[in-house]
Amino acid sequence: MAGLAAAARLREFGASPVVLEKGTRPGGSMLLSSCVVWRFRDWEEYRAECPAGDERLQRLVWERLDEAIEWLVSLGAPVVWDETGNPRTVGKRFDPHGLTDALVRRAGEIRVGQTWSEQSDQTDLTSWSDQTNPSIVATGGFQGSAEFVTRYIRPAGLLRLRANPWSVGEGLRLGLERGAALSAGMDEFYGRNMPDVDLVESDFVSQAQLYGRFARVFNERGEEFFEGDVSWSENDLVQATARQPNARAWYVLDDDALAQRVRDRTVADLAAAALTATDPSELPFEPPAGARIGVRVAPGITHTIGGLRIDERARVLHEDGTPIDGLFAAGADVGGISTGGYASGLAAALVFGRIAAESVVA
Ligand SMILES: Cc1cc2nc3c(=O)[nH]c(=O)nc-3n(C[C@H](O)[C@H](O)[C@H](O)COP(=O)(O)OP(=O)(O)OC[C@H]3O[C@@H](n4cnc5c(N)ncnc54)[C@H](O)[C@@H]3O)c2cc1C
Repeated sequence: MAGLAAAARLREFGASPVVLEKGTRPGGSMLLSSCVVWRFRDWEEYRAECPAGDERLQRLVWERLDEAIEWLVSLGAPVVWDETGNPRTVGKRFDPHGLTDALVRRAGEIRVGQTWSEQSDQTDLTSWSDQTNPSIVATGGFQGSAEFVTRYIRPAGLLRLRANPWSVGEGLRLGLERGAALSAGMDEFYGRNMPDVDLVESDFVSQAQLYGRFARVFNERGEEFFEGDVSWSENDLVQATARQPNARAWYVLDDDALAQRVRDRTVADLAAAALTATDPSELPFEPPAGARIGVRVAPGITHTIGGLRIDERARVLHEDGTPIDGLFAAGADVGGISTGGYASGLAAALVFGRIAAESVVA
């Protein structure tokens, strides 16, 4: 999202960007997503939901998203829903293939299967971008890197990847090599609890176990570890699961829980379709009274929440707050926006992709 939006916006200013896409196709995780691009309806709720985020960056996402969504529509991105279906948020749901196609048509030259180091005769990433040759890094976060996930979040083998396979923190690495500062919340991520099996891309949405708030949730020792109410996004429960022994949990459902609805499906439908649904007698602890189904889940990491520190112009910053020459960042490579909670990653990528482009030509 961030890279294609930046390129499309740059071309509106008469620039000739080149998009280097490491993967085998454009669209990154955006193409795999449910493609709901949204913001909180109320500013105060955004701050309350993501209290540790950088308020100046959040303000830009909140103020500039509606205009950015209209821009996507004007580029021909097909809208599937005009509303998000969630009363606390506003935005639109796009068709991910149509949205990707619309951006690709406007983005100009896209070199698929290439990264920046292959574009330069210098293999030293640190010297690739400068004032005369500005770069916008938008590599989609570091969730695919065992090294970075282990360093900042949890031993990587404990989390399952729920994202495109190419986002392995190369934007973060480039920033660090150029002396970038990191945002708050490097240990945070956005994800869903998923059945504890190897996942394929077609499972990412259909197998998301988004009914933890109705379940009794146990860790492998049979302890109910989550205190208080699970949030609507359930990202707090997912991150709490990541902190349990082996980063695993069991959702245990009784008749009341099975009768609840999540959008147009019942929890009974969702649990029955889960790849790890089991009879309560197979739980590794004494099942609670009334248990009908147990589902073994593991956190699926969709994107990292921490990353490079930027300013309101999407310039990557040194620790002392001064910008690094010619280096801009957007999307999940940028940290500190939804810190402490969860907000739309597509929205932040869209708004800061456009801002990065505007800053490059300013
Ligand atoms: C199943 C699923 C459902 C989701 N649903 C939603 C939703 O409904 N709403 C929402 O807001 N968000 C959703 N998301 C999250 C959303 O997709 C991301 O927040 C968003 O795509 C981030 O944008 P980005 O531009 O940072 O990364 P991406 O869109 O992933 O793009 C990053 C690109 O960088 C490329 N790349 C990586 N490394 C390099 C390199 N070294 N050189 C060149 N290219 C590189 C990748 O191949 C990729 O194409 C979902 C994600 C998934 C997986």
